Formats: sequence, C-alpha cells, structure tokens
Amino acid sequence: METLTKSNYINGVWKESVSKKSMPVYNPATLEQIAEISYGGKSDAEEAIKAAKNTFPTWSSKTPRERSTILYKAYQLMTEQADDLAKTITKEQGKPLKEALGEVKSAASFLLWYAEEANRLYGETIPSSVKTKRLLVIPQPVGVVAAITPWNFPASMITRKLGPALAAGCTVILKPAPDTPLTAIKIVKILEEAGIPSGVVNLVNGDAKGIGKAVLSNEDVRLITFTGSTEVGKYLMEKSASHVKKLSLELGGHAPILVFDDADIDQAVDLTLASKFRNSGQTCICANRVYVQQSVYETFTEKLKDKVRDLRQGNGLEEQVDIGPLINEHQKDKVMTHLRDAQEKGADIYSPHNDNRNHLSNGLFFPPTVLTNVHKKMKVMHEETFGPIIPVQSFQSEDEGITNANDSNYGLAAYIFTKNVDRSVRVSEKLEYGIVGINDVFPALAEAPFGGIKQSGIGKEGGHHGIHEFVELKYISMGISL
Ligand code: ADP
Repeated sequence: METLTKSNYINGVWKESVSKKSMPVYNPATLEQIAEISYGGKSDAEEAIKAAKNTFPTWSSKTPRERSTILYKAYQLMTEQADDLAKTITKEQGKPLKEALGEVKSAASFLLWYAEEANRLYGETIPSSVKTKRLLVIPQPVGVVAAITPWNFPASMITRKLGPALAAGCTVILKPAPDTPLTAIKIVKILEEAGIPSGVVNLVNGDAKGIGKAVLSNEDVRLITFTGSTEVGKYLMEKSASHVKKLSLELGGHAPILVFDDADIDQAVDLTLASKFRNSGQTCICANRVYVQQSVYETFTEKLKDKVRDLRQGNGLEEQVDIGPLINEHQKDKVMTHLRDAQEKGADIYSPHNDNRNHLSNGLFFPPTVLTNVHKKMKVMHEETFGPIIPVQSFQSEDEGITNANDSNYGLAAYIFTKNVDRSVRVSEKLEYGIVGINDVFPALAEAPFGGIKQSGIGKEGGHHGIHEFVELKYISMGISL
C-alpha cells in the first residue's frame, strides 16, 4: 500500500490537507486498500482558488504557442507513461487493462488536440453598418475554472477539461472523484513535469461537499466544468446562480440502441456488447436500452446471449479479462435494485455467470445480464443503471422505434444499426440526443463535440467547440476618423 501524505497540489507544492486528514483508496477487484491520500476540504480549496486567481494574469498573457508547448509536452509524457497510468486506472477503477490503455490514449489525445487548438482560437471582424466604425470580436479566457470529475474515466475526463481550459488561458482547481484520485495525482505530476507554472493547475482531493462549497461561494471561480450525476449537476447549477457562474455540464445518460431489420445483425450484436459491457456498463454513453425490430428480435437476442455467456469476468490486471468489477458498494446496490425491480415487474433474466459469483466474491463483481420481456415502467428502462445489465425490447415500425428511443428525460447518446442510408439520416435527425452513432458505438473523440441535451447537460467537450466553453467573447467597437 502506498501512503501519499502530500497528495494535494496547490500553488506548485505537494501538500497534505489543512486538517491533516487522510482517506483510503481501494481496488474494487480485490477490496484491498491500495493507498492512503490527503483528504482536503473547504480550506484547501480556498487556498487553491487563491493560487489560481493570482496566476491567471501571467498564464493568460502567455502566447498560445507557449501554452501549447506545455500541453504538447504533457501529451508526450502521458504517451510515454501510458502503461504505468493504465495500471493505476485498473487498480483503482477496475476496468480491464486493455480498456485502461485505450483510455490513456484517449486522454492523451485531448492534450494533443488542445495543444493544437490553442493556436487556432480565432476572433472575428464584423462588417459594420456604420462607415466610421470597425467591429472586432476577441475570445478571452473566462478566468479561474473548477473542474469536477467522475471515477468512470479517471484520466480522460480530466484531460478533456484541463486541455481546453489551459489552452484557452484559464487556471484550474481540479477535484477528482474520491474513488480514483491516484490517476489524477499522476496526471498532475505529468503536467508539472511538462512545465506548467505554479498555481496554474491545483489539485484538491477530499470532501466533495466542502470543496464544492468553496468553489460555489467564491466569486473568483467563473466556470464550473463538471461531469457526473444529473443530481449533483442540478445542485451546482442552482448554487451557481448567485454569481451567475458559467457552467459546462456533462450529466447522466440513458442511451437507446435501435436495431432495424436491415442491420448487419452480427455487427449490431458485437457493438451492442462492446457498448454495454465496456467499463462494466459504467459509461454515460453506454447502451441502456436496446430496441430490436420484431423480425430480427429473436436472432439478435439469441446471438447476444451467446456472446454474453462467453465474456470473461475478473480482475482487470489479469490477461484475457473482458469485464471487471463495479466501482463501489453503492453502485453495486443500485444495479441490484434495478435487477430486482425488473424481476418483480416480470422481466426474464439471462445471467450465465451468476454461478461464478463465489469465485469472484472478494470484489464488487456483478454478472453480465440480459433482460427480455421488459417494459418502460421498469427502472432499467428509464433510470441510469451504470452496470452490466442489458434490457432488450422489440418494436414494429420505424416510428415506434424512434418514439421509444426518445422517451427519456436524458439526451446524451443514441445509436442506430441499419444499412439503409435514407433511414440512417431520417432517424438520426429525429433522435433527441446530442450524439448519434450510426453503426458505431464509440463516438467520443478529441476532435468531435461531445455533449448532451435535455437533462444530460449543457455545453460540449472536444472539438474546436470544446474550447469555447472556456472563453468569453469580447466585442470591441472602434470609432475611427476617415
Ligand atoms: P457518481 O454518482 O457517479 O459518483 P457524482 O455526481 O456523485 O457521480 O460525482 C461526480 C463528481 O462530483 C465527483 O468528483 C464527486 O466527488 C463530485 N461531487 C459530488 N457531490 C458534490 C458536491 N456537492 N459538490 C461538489 N462536487 C461534488
């Protein structure tokens, strides 16, 4: 076990928390304690905000190229340290090592993309209706940013916020999830090694509520960029009102998959499996509900069950493991509640790995499960499960499929399987989601805008769009003598 007594990073110094308290970090596959780290709170966050405020003028006045060079160096270091970082992710988060490596590559790609994008944050000139005026629009960094991140992608959720924030010229207080602080610590060390000046990135681990209060009550924090539950997102939104803080929120999802009768069924089965069981179903864009057109429903379901039977569950550090544990007891209880609810309401359960549970009883494993005979009143069909349960329902017409898919308060991602081009366009335009995958379930790329509508959030991460969350547009009107 590692003891990291100084695991908050404030104004360029690794520190213990003001209260001297610490907290444990566990491996969800074994329930062993793997580290003890500093447990910060309100006072630590206040100090971090002060440091970020003080450094903002110097960081924001650096040239984009200077900021870009540091981000590029961080990208290189992250790529070099990918194996080590991936192991840390697997140990504290549980996902299989191959997925963790994929996450590190994705995390690094955000640093690379925003190293490049820093140099392309263009303004505008507007043709004026008045002869003696010249109109300019310039983007300027919002100021101090609080980045609050979740545990499901402990590396990429950080870089997709820090990349654009730093590229734009903002300074940052990072608060990672308590389940996965070790990855965050390593990422901040990488930024330090890359030459980020003191005070530009500050890391505070610990008491979410206390750190949240410090951020919310401080007028100097101009933007909160948050990924997490809709519940906490709403709380942050409400409490940000008094300072009219900017918000960028990536909240929950309840992604539908529509499999049409003209789909390549084997492809649909493989990608549904990949979408649902990646990260044990703990992904905000993973499939939550699958709707299959009646004529191919039986074939699809049987093939899906066969593939689920072949999944290998276990400790992600072991070779060949496809599916790891859930992150914590709370998450396991929630998934179990969804399963029981579906069972009570008449679902048929296919859970071929259930008898392995003794073998895996040390960890927080939940067997991958297929539910059929489901209906919309079941929790799994409208609440985010965040676990390896996949409900499959049939539909008749294209319109019925679309209506089912749109029947949600969430609007993050939706997927369509079809080989009909007309249908793919028609349906994707009608889906009320921020992201649509057509014969594709991995839409999250550094160069593309990721974000939801409805209760799935506000704003975009990734792409040239992502950096705009971190700037204000200033309009300059110049009166000139001709
Ligand atoms: P989950 O249920 O998936 O853990 P949360 O929304 O609770 O999602 O957590 C996402 C992030 O938000 C974590 O870093 C968590 O510590 C943080 N968080 C939770 N509650 C608060 C709060 N009141 N203020 C600030 N951050 C919070």
